[in-house]
Amino acid sequence: MLAEIISIGDELLIGQTINTNAAYIGAKLTEIGIEVNWITSVGDDRNALFSVLAIAEKRADVIICTGGLGPTHDDLTKDVFVTYFKAKLICNEKILNKIKSFFFDRGVEMPNINEEQALVPDNATVIENNVGTAPGLLFLNQDNKMFFVLPGVPFEMKTMIDNEVVPILKTKSKKFIKYKILKTTGIGESSLFEKIDNIQELEKFVKIAFLPKITGVEIRINSINESEELCLKNMLLAESKILEKISQYVWGKDDENLEDIVVNLLIKKHKTVAVVESCSGGALTDRLTNHLNSNSYLSHSIISNNLNTTSTILGVLPESLIQFGAISAEIAVQMAQKIKDMNFSDFGVAINGNWTPTQNDEDFGVTLIAVSDHDKNVCEKLILKRDINFNKQRTAQVALDLLRRRLLIID
Ligand code: ATP
Ligand code: MG
Repeated sequence: MLAEIISIGDELLIGQTINTNAAYIGAKLTEIGIEVNWITSVGDDRNALFSVLAIAEKRADVIICTGGLGPTHDDLTKDVFVTYFKAKLICNEKILNKIKSFFFDRGVEMPNINEEQALVPDNATVIENNVGTAPGLLFLNQDNKMFFVLPGVPFEMKTMIDNEVVPILKTKSKKFIKYKILKTTGIGESSLFEKIDNIQELEKFVKIAFLPKITGVEIRINSINESEELCLKNMLLAESKILEKISQYVWGKDDENLEDIVVNLLIKKHKTVAVVESCSGGALTDRLTNHLNSNSYLSHSIISNNLNTTSTILGVLPESLIQFGAISAEIAVQMAQKIKDMNFSDFGVAINGNWTPTQNDEDFGVTLIAVSDHDKNVCEKLILKRDINFNKQRTAQVALDLLRRRLLIID
């Protein structure tokens, strides 16, 4: 069963409102095995909506529209549907009483225009709205294609999707759609693609997508089948074939996040870490402290914006700064070692970089992330010339992943 979501409202087209409704509905339909093939946004315009409906009716089996059901002049969705389905409007007493008591309960006099919301098309089924005044509607065409019409207010839309629409559609859906996300850091999508190598073989039974994010590339494995068991079996097979090739880059799955994984490893292994950040403003410390017991594994953190001060505190010799250069792997490793030893920690992590653009500065963007423990020092160099938010997120992620690898002794 194929679905199209139609989001109605000028505010969506001019970038004032992000279309979160469509995202929510897409996720809910996918959960019950309905494939969303199209999301269409259209302004508050009769002709445009009319033509969008005609296109959707041809290609989709289920059409879910949101927005423009309110009582004001720019809310024209109901009007368009009345024309499209050649309906007559009749007053629905039950809805009228509900709208009246909705206002009465709030101690507000009902504006006359709200009375119009009780007028419903004679050939539509009413979808109850227990959290607002605009009722939803369900139209069927001659081929039994379903047109759901819901308010745009996200809270009302969500309640109606969950309580009314999903239960109706669930009984009609014959498919299962399952997803699995493998999360990686420290490798680009092209390299992942090359390393996995046999994508065409995998695509015979699942769909694979590479989704680059600031924090790393996610690999989505997607299976659509007649049975849930087959979906899960195919996904598991694809996952194991992918992991055979790139397991060292995969730090987690689905909703997992890297700081939870690292923190859980630190706690489980009774290890402590000390951190020094000289350019990232505490981005790593922030993520390491997203846990109530952070003082059990984070022994110390220095967040400084001045490498000279940081070096003095840590006891990095000025001669070393001159010998190796302030923004160098040697200095980053020294900082990691010194913060570790200063706090008797198992791991030391240092972030040191030059994020200040100045003319002819060869170091600009160079970022060094070092992790030191009793056995080894590792250091990774990033060149970050984007905005500060990007730099912080990417740096913290790479630092966490280096720490994860040392905790698991992965090279
Ligand atoms: P109302 O009865 O409140 O007028 P309505 O059905 O007319 O409901 P709209 O007027 O289209 O809905 O939108 C109401 C609110 O919901 C607006 O603040 C709008 O920005 C928001 N909204 C509408 N559509 C979406 C969408 N697709 N995603 C997120 N928010 C939306
Ligand atoms: Mg409105």
